[in-house]
Amino acid sequence: MSKPKIVVLGAGYAGLMTTKKLAKQLAPEEAELVLVNKHNYHYETTWLHEVAAGTINHNQARFMISDVVNPNRVRLIYDSVVKVNKEENKVVLENSELTYDYLVIALGFVTNTFGIKGMEENAFFIQDIDGCQLIRDHIEYKFAQYKNSEEKNDDDLTILVGGGGFTGIELVGELVEKVPQLCKKYDIDRRKARIINVEAAPSILPVFEKDLVAYAKESLERRGVEFMIGTKITECTEEGFVVGDDSELVKAGTIVWTGGVTGSPVLSESGFELNRGKVTVNGDLRAPGEDNIFILGDCAWVMNEAEGRPFPPTAQAAMQHATTCAHNIAALLHNEPLQNFIFDDKGTVASLGITDGVGTVFGGTKLTGKPAATMKKVVDNRSIFLFGGVNLLLKKGKVRPF
Ligand code: FAD
Ligand code: NAD
Repeated sequence: MSKPKIVVLGAGYAGLMTTKKLAKQLAPEEAELVLVNKHNYHYETTWLHEVAAGTINHNQARFMISDVVNPNRVRLIYDSVVKVNKEENKVVLENSELTYDYLVIALGFVTNTFGIKGMEENAFFIQDIDGCQLIRDHIEYKFAQYKNSEEKNDDDLTILVGGGGFTGIELVGELVEKVPQLCKKYDIDRRKARIINVEAAPSILPVFEKDLVAYAKESLERRGVEFMIGTKITECTEEGFVVGDDSELVKAGTIVWTGGVTGSPVLSESGFELNRGKVTVNGDLRAPGEDNIFILGDCAWVMNEAEGRPFPPTAQAAMQHATTCAHNIAALLHNEPLQNFIFDDKGTVASLGITDGVGTVFGGTKLTGKPAATMKKVVDNRSIFLFGGVNLLLKKGKVRPF
């Protein structure tokens, strides 16, 4: 009899960790393992704001999948998933097709524009490593162009960030580090280069308590970030965002949209029932009505039954999904009972540049400033260590000095 075939889609936090755990828990004769990913590298999604601002090199934020997964144990396929054909247990890739006995969908998120006019066409997104390199290069191009042009337009130096959630705030935190360097390099008055964050809600970082929000806002304002809070973006043009009831146009040379995310479009292509772009999975992380399909990470809503709402979709949660999923697939193969996912919340930290941050950790301890920034680096390094041990940590870990 042939071995059961387990196919994992996506080599992000959830998919790569599930693959590694399955390779450890199942003997080669028990199951065939296949990992499909768009690229031959994994990137740290949680570092993308730094790649976009240019405060770290994009190569630091990625590593080869074959460096952390044994290709003799796991078949690695580098291709794009188009859709899953559930009825036939088949995955359609851009260049081929695959059958499966068990499937793990861990294809992450895409930026959600909520249909805002012009956003898709005119704004950059913090979505993957290629897109973030484009942002970095575009910002520098605008500064170089300004320096070399005879008729200078100060709007070219403005960087506009739409959305004051975690991604938007962490991005402006990195920009306040990078912009002074660019001003120095191109001999531009720092006061001419504006960094503007636009947020529709009455507050940035709504997850945090008021004192932490106030700390973050004051710290960023002190370093030159301008906030437009309670200001809804209604349109994006080539020139900037149209905001507020009076349709003011805020002009910029670089426009980045960080207004929200949704699950991979592969989910809708595959006919899953969606709730705001993601699948609400069962406690054991399987898709409703599907015995052999697990959905993890940013593709899934996992309900926090105690609070009657889903757990926030984070890398922390995605890596924990991997543990439950690998356990449950092994349990299915061994005819043992499945486990329900239990989230172990270790806290949340947002960076505000290299030496500053805010966060709540270990069940309520608040951190600000350097302790928060240090904690963020510890968290960032932890995932590198979990994927590739000390060797990878030495190659890719963050040791930026304060
Ligand atoms: P990902 O890690 O995004 O991986 C998805 C993988 O699927 C990628 O390798 C991608 O290339 C691949 N893929 C996508 N589509 C296809 C396709 N069609 N075919 C083949 N392959 C495909 N969370 C935290 O807990 N802490 C943080 O500090 C934090 N910081 C963040 C900072 C930023 C800037 C952002 C954007 C997010 C941050 N998050 C953070 C959230 C966290 O990154 C996500 O929750 C996490 O990445 C979800 O993991 P995942 O495995 O579902 O997807
Ligand atoms: P988000 O949904 O958390 O934040 C988007 C923000 O954009 C919101 O504050 C929203 O009010 C605002 N917005 C939406 N429409 C708008 C409009 N028309 N005009 C102006 N503002 C508008 O999205 P995100 O920040 O990209 O985060 C996505 C996920 O990734 C979240 O689950 C977050 O927790 C996670 N994340 C975590 C970290 C961290 O832990 N350090 C960092 C980044 C992202």
